[in-house]
Amino acid sequence: MSARTPTPANRFGLDYRAEAARLGAPVVPIIDAHTHIHGERASRIYDEVRRLFGVVKTYSMTQIGQAPVVREALGDTLRFIAIPTWSDPDKANAHGMGYVKTIERFRREFDARIMKIWASPRLRDIVTGVGAVDVRDIDSPARIAACEAGRDLGMMYMVHVADPDTWFATKYADPAKYGTKRSHYEALERMLDRFTNPWIAAHMGGWPEDLGFLDGLLSRHDNLYIDTSATKWVVRELSRHPVTATRAFFEKWGAAGRVLFGSDLVVMEDQLSPAKTGVSAMSDLADSPESAFELYASRYFALRTMFETAYDGESPIADPDLMMVEPAKYNAMSGPRLRGLSLPRELLGVLYAGAAERLVEEWTIRE
Ligand SMILES: [Zn+2]
Repeated sequence: MSARTPTPANRFGLDYRAEAARLGAPVVPIIDAHTHIHGERASRIYDEVRRLFGVVKTYSMTQIGQAPVVREALGDTLRFIAIPTWSDPDKANAHGMGYVKTIERFRREFDARIMKIWASPRLRDIVTGVGAVDVRDIDSPARIAACEAGRDLGMMYMVHVADPDTWFATKYADPAKYGTKRSHYEALERMLDRFTNPWIAAHMGGWPEDLGFLDGLLSRHDNLYIDTSATKWVVRELSRHPVTATRAFFEKWGAAGRVLFGSDLVVMEDQLSPAKTGVSAMSDLADSPESAFELYASRYFALRTMFETAYDGESPIADPDLMMVEPAKYNAMSGPRLRGLSLPRELLGVLYAGAAERLVEEWTIRE
């Protein structure tokens, strides 16, 4: 055991540089299909981390104002995914009808080939009043306008459709306000039929808790792909299933190239010092270059450990959702079980790079 103080990103005080060396190079260089990279210095720390863990290409949902800085730091190893401008004080416009213009700029100025539909139930707290009805559901008018614009620009879609079951059990407990989890998928399935370009549903399609449901969803829609992003959520829920069940899911859909590796790393300059601009809650996850390094490294370490090894123990990352659901049993530093899947090498190659190469990289050169 190490003498280092436990932190939420490193409960065991591991030396993540040594752990990366112990994992060794991945079977193929990795494409991370889902991140949020911002800030010049933070991007460079992220770059060091990704090299350590064998990640060579990163798809990022970056605020458009920061896209030039991030491109400068990471060059052509970075690909942008269009997203709404969160810093715009007019939330209804940024997420609603104004989003079309942002998509066009991402495509023309930054060569984005993917556009995000962020349809978390949380949007119902963010966009209220007039304009709320335009973005309320995945198939609301502003969503359709955005998808039409993306289609006309030759783009595919990334979608955030739902949040963890733990959130529907707590902060989204009122279905009149947030809808049921299932209702969001009914709207998504209408959009998958209406817009036939490929869709990547983030965070194991938003339902790592229910692999049977995901199996049905992927079976019904040939244009649907999922990514493994949201490390805490995905590690917690995939590790709850019997290893044989999770492995069988990856052997079916991962081997078929329908699952893309993604981390959901959020990288930002505010994570490098204790002073915060108050722009994002994610800035509180670190407060120095060293703790930012730990934060970024922890995600790649946990995901690679789950996919590649036979580890069976607690996750090195604290997961506050445990305490949110069972406050008597857990505290803020509790971690869930992490069960290694020991996926075969060939399957890892598809998951880590092959799926993204076939779907996104070939889509991009096709023009
Ligand atoms: Zn994300």
